[in-house]
Amino acid sequence: MIYILGPCSAESREQVLETARMLKETCSVPFIFRAGVWKPRTRPDTFQGAGEEGLRWLSEVKAQYGIPVATEVATPEHVSAALEAGMDYLWIGARSSATPIVVQSLADSICDLKIRRFEDSKIRRFEDLKGLFIKNPVNADAALWLGNIERLEQTGVPVMAVHRGCGHKPSWSVAHEVRLARPDIPMLLDPSHMSGDAAKVPELLTKVTELGLDGAMIEVHCCPEKALSDAKQQIRPSAISRQLSAVSHQNTVELNWLRAEIDELDETLWETVAARMDVSRRIGEWKKAHVVAQLQPERYQQIKSKVESQKSKAFSADFALRLWEIIHEESVRIQVKGEK
Ligand code: PEP
Ligand code: MN
Repeated sequence: MIYILGPCSAESREQVLETARMLKETCSVPFIFRAGVWKPRTRPDTFQGAGEEGLRWLSEVKAQYGIPVATEVATPEHVSAALEAGMDYLWIGARSSATPIVVQSLADSICDLKIRRFEDSKIRRFEDLKGLFIKNPVNADAALWLGNIERLEQTGVPVMAVHRGCGHKPSWSVAHEVRLARPDIPMLLDPSHMSGDAAKVPELLTKVTELGLDGAMIEVHCCPEKALSDAKQQIRPSAISRQLSAVSHQNTVELNWLRAEIDELDETLWETVAARMDVSRRIGEWKKAHVVAQLQPERYQQIKSKVESQKSKAFSADFALRLWEIIHEESVRIQVKGEK
């Protein structure tokens, strides 16, 4: 198992070293220490990261505790600064992963440094680079994620995938597609960004076992309530050993992947049904305000024939009609009643 633990951002020397010390004391399994120093924040008026100074704190963690260290890179300048500071691993975040030109420029800069390291002693730290982690793109796109893996493989450095979901939701179908296409690439789970909620981390971690994943990236902060980024999702170092002890191996992995996909689809199905009912309620209000009859036979026939012409390999026309009739009946009831 590969574990990457540490704060969302490097905020101060004390915070970085204290989190590393607490993790070193409490965590019973080997881990890579993470901290972002260039934060891809949504709003410009929020904490943007400590920059290169933060890399020095990470180097101290490596020197003082002998723990390998990782940071996020988004530009070729980040790559050279991070390697110069002796980072062992780099990760590419979900926002950068959404842009192939960015990922290619990162891969190119690593290839370039690999060539130049023979001429420039500063670049010797390149030898420290042990792996590249690529998160899934913020949009649910398995092909793009796979393409990014291929781009990074051009560097010759081992590549690993991190499933962090889209927004604050897992994307099991995308992760499954990547897993099936590239079973040779280790895949980690990032329950912190996947949920945005520290309380949901333990339950999500059970997926590492169920789906036969290769580890997890978890945000850990010495004092989560004071964190300058992602405060809600970071856990305390003291909680980590307990949570990781539940991770193990299982033999129903493929069935579990399919079930995860079904659960995700069911959720989307219910959200769609709920959104449809809400539109029905608004139609009901409009009809009342404009004194229009609730049931319009012509419209009914129009939608019905659309349903009847539904062609799918996955279900029968008869099923489509029966399902739509149930939905329509509830829809009319909500239009008339104005609530569920
Ligand atoms: C992070 O790991 O701190 C981060 C910014 O994650 P993501 O790219 O998954 O949002
Ligand atoms: Mn974060």
